[in-house]
Amino acid sequence: MKSLSFTGGFHIEEYKGSTEHLATEKMGLPSKVIIPLSQHIGAPAKPVVKKDDKVKTGQIIGQMQGYVSANIHASLSGTVIEIISVLTPMGRKSSAVVIESDGQDEKFYDASENQNYKDLKKEDIIKTITDAGIVGMGGATFPTHVKLVPPKGKEIKTIIINGAECEPFLTADHRTMIEFPEEMLKGIDIIKQFTGAEKVYIGIENNKPDAINILEEKSKAYKFEVVSLQAKYPQGAEKNLIAAIMKKEVPSGGLPLDVGVVVQNVGTAKAVYDAVCLNTPLYERIVTVSGNSIHKPKNIIVRVGTEFSEIFKFCGDFSLEPAKIISGGPMMGFSIPFIENFSVTKGTSGILAFSKEFSQEKEKYPCIKCARCVDHCPMWLMPSKIEKLGNAGLFDEAEKIAALDCVECGTCAYVCPASRPLVQMIRYTKSKIIDNKNR
Ligand code: SF4
Ligand code: SF4
Repeated sequence: MKSLSFTGGFHIEEYKGSTEHLATEKMGLPSKVIIPLSQHIGAPAKPVVKKDDKVKTGQIIGQMQGYVSANIHASLSGTVIEIISVLTPMGRKSSAVVIESDGQDEKFYDASENQNYKDLKKEDIIKTITDAGIVGMGGATFPTHVKLVPPKGKEIKTIIINGAECEPFLTADHRTMIEFPEEMLKGIDIIKQFTGAEKVYIGIENNKPDAINILEEKSKAYKFEVVSLQAKYPQGAEKNLIAAIMKKEVPSGGLPLDVGVVVQNVGTAKAVYDAVCLNTPLYERIVTVSGNSIHKPKNIIVRVGTEFSEIFKFCGDFSLEPAKIISGGPMMGFSIPFIENFSVTKGTSGILAFSKEFSQEKEKYPCIKCARCVDHCPMWLMPSKIEKLGNAGLFDEAEKIAALDCVECGTCAYVCPASRPLVQMIRYTKSKIIDNKNR
C-alpha cells in the first residue's frame, strides 16, 4: 500500500519502542481522584455536587454550561471531600472536585450492552454523546457534540479517523486500534450514521503496520477505507491529514467542515461506542506513561482524576530522577512544574518523565526575531507575533493574524533558538479567543 503525506513537516525520532508492543494494563481504583471542571475547550462545567455528597461512578458532578462545554462525571464512587482550585496542564486555573473512593465502584448507569445502535434516532445519538461529556481525546478536547453538528449551510460528507499518532513516545492510539478495533469501528459507524457522511477514511502512519492490517481486515464489513500515511511530523494535524488523504486544502481561518470533512481521534470513536452501546460516559481513558525516567513504561487504562503521582507508582516509580514531566507528547504537550494535584484529564494522551540528561532543559531568551518559527510553521503563521500578543492579552489582535489556524504542532518551539514557550502561549491564546466568542 502506498503511503500518503502532506507537503512540509519533518521526520522526528519516534521513541515508541518501549510501549508500542505491550498490552494495555488496567490500573486499579485510586484511593481518591481530583477531577478538574475545566478539561475541555469552552466554558468550564458548573459543579453540581458539594462537600460530603455521596456520588456513584458515571454520575454528573459538573454540568456543561452553554453549548461549547462538556459534562464532567465522577470517575469512581465515594464521597466528595472538597472542591479545590488546581492548575490544569493547559496552565489554566480550574475548580476541581475531589472524591474519596469507597472502593465499591458503584455505577450510576446501567452498563448492559445495546448493540442495536442502527435503530437509534439522530437526536438520541447526539443527546447520548452530549450527556456522556465526550471531547476530542487526541488532546484537543473540543466537545464532540459540537464538532458533529455542522452550522447551517455546511455538510459533513467525509469522516477522517485520526490514527496517525505522530508524536514521539505516544502509543495509546496505536494500542486502541490493536486492542479495541471492533468497539472503535462501531463508534465510527455511529458517527457516520449520525452525520450521514458518505465516506470514511482511517488514516494510520506506516510505522504501525499491525494496526493497518487489523483495521484493513475488520473495516471491510463497514466499507471504511484504511489509508497508510508516511511517518512524518505533524502528520496527525487535521489540516495535514486532509491534505494527505484528500488532496484538499482547508482555507485560512476555516475548519475541516469548510471542505466537508470532520476529523475524529480513534479514542474518541471508542468513547462514542462506550456511550451509545454501553451507556458509559467518558470517565476513563488510555494513557501512555513513558520517558527514560519511568521504571516500567506502559499504556494504562486509568480513571480521569487519577493523580500523576499514583500513576508513577503503578509504573514502578522512577528509575532515574525526573527533571521534566510532560502531560501529552513532547511536541504538543505541556511541561508541568510539579506533580502534586496534577491529575489525568480527558485529554491526557500521555505522561512522560525525563531525566536531566535527556530533557536538556534549555534556558529561555528573548526573541531575537530570526523568523525561523515563521519559516517552519506548516500553517504559514507568525508564531512569535502570536506569542507576543497573547502575552499582552491582545486576543482580538491575535485572531486577526489567524492564531486560530495554529494546529499546535510545536514545530515553531522546536526550531526556536531562544527556546520561547510558543506553543503553550499560542494554545492559551486560542482558548481565550474561543472563550470570548462564546460569551
Ligand atoms: S504556530 Fe507553531 S504550533 Fe502553530 S502551527 Fe505553526 S509551527 Fe505549529
Ligand atoms: S524562532 Fe524564536 S527567536 Fe526566532 S523569531 Fe521565532 S520566537 Fe523569535
